Amino acid sequence: MTHMPITMDNHWLPFTNNRLFHQEPQIFARAKGVRYWTPEGQEILDGSSGLFCSAAGHGRPEIAEAVHKQLMELDYTPHFQRAAPVSFELARRLAEILPEGIDRLFFGSSGSEAVDSAMKICLAYHRARGEAQRTRFVSRSWGYHGVNLGGTSLAGMVGNRRDFSGVTCDVVHMRHTWNEEQRFTRSQPEDGAHLADDLEDMCKTYGGETIAAVFVEPIAGSIGTIVPPKGYLQRLRQIADKYGILLVFDEVITGFGRTGSAFASQEFGVTPDVITMAKALTNGTIPMSAVAVKTEIQKTVIASVTADRPELMHGYTYSAHPVACAAALAALDIYRDEKLFERGKSLSDTFLDGVFGLRNLPQVYDLRGHGMMAGIQLTPGKAPGEKGSIVQRLLFKDGLHVKATGDALIFAPALVSEESDLEQMVDSLRRVLGRSD
Ligand code: PLP
Repeated sequence: MTHMPITMDNHWLPFTNNRLFHQEPQIFARAKGVRYWTPEGQEILDGSSGLFCSAAGHGRPEIAEAVHKQLMELDYTPHFQRAAPVSFELARRLAEILPEGIDRLFFGSSGSEAVDSAMKICLAYHRARGEAQRTRFVSRSWGYHGVNLGGTSLAGMVGNRRDFSGVTCDVVHMRHTWNEEQRFTRSQPEDGAHLADDLEDMCKTYGGETIAAVFVEPIAGSIGTIVPPKGYLQRLRQIADKYGILLVFDEVITGFGRTGSAFASQEFGVTPDVITMAKALTNGTIPMSAVAVKTEIQKTVIASVTADRPELMHGYTYSAHPVACAAALAALDIYRDEKLFERGKSLSDTFLDGVFGLRNLPQVYDLRGHGMMAGIQLTPGKAPGEKGSIVQRLLFKDGLHVKATGDALIFAPALVSEESDLEQMVDSLRRVLGRSD
């Protein structure tokens, strides 16, 4: 293992308290399966698939080999008026596992790019059908949709917006669906479908004909796993249809078996018009994202332009990068051959039993979860987010990596986890959250 000096002189870390990190760096030097190792050799169990990425576990040779082969065969192709065979194959494979009718794929490199691309595609679609006045978006309080300017506008997490006001787009926010009285609900709460009526209120207040799309995470991930109440997503679908609004599911976290089905759309039986995905698309190995749209959306945009110019004036240097496509195809092969979506579904009970067994620990305020996703809301500390940060560090020292947002810990173990790995995770939580200080 190479030992490189860690100095904060040049590197500015994202979403990190750089001063604190400087005092106490927490570094991963190596990873395999569901474990990381620090440079000192301490083993750390990966409770969050990195950042919801490594569904098939770390260090998969099949992906490394596919990437190497692609690099040697065709390392880069521009995708403006050019293309490579590998991205057509990837689009075909994704269409196979997406809900029926959502079969046109546009590629980018990150979830944030997927979200901003999806916003532009929605605008282009409405313009193509003669409804260019639809320029407003609806999203939800506590939502996370990446950090580009479109996604920042959609964001419903105040910390992600506050410093950047003045450059955001026209977005109005529905209420989130968390409810104090439904604490400790496993899977979907019974009550709350009526919260989707916020979309109807927005239509009445702003004019449904001014709204291009409504963006939601089917399960709100980054805030700490908030599972939609029964009937909520269905109701959103009905209202969106009534007012001609596109329904976009941001499945950057929930895609690729995280909820028990390939996509949360299938898990909850609601088909949106657009799905964004990233993270586990390549098992986190090479940055890549995609926007999947209904056939009709792409056809309408393409048919609207007769001149010899691109129909969608949008794209990235790294759109459909051949090496990323190769990594994604190898990841999809693993998911299929090892039946990992099914495996996630069958592991879910053990996982959620373990997490919900922590209910009575002194630091636990709420527990939520569905499939292989769960959130632990900690009892409030002195300042918002302080306890989450402290507990996250304590867990690291105890040998468990977990994503924390504010005072929520967010779990998304790899779909290749063994039951013993899940037990180890819960044991670590019991040790750290069992402390009353
Ligand atoms: N959308 C959702 C729902 C996400 O959870 C994330 C990241 O966590 C993003 C978008 C942004 O993805 P990225 O960090 O790859 O830009």
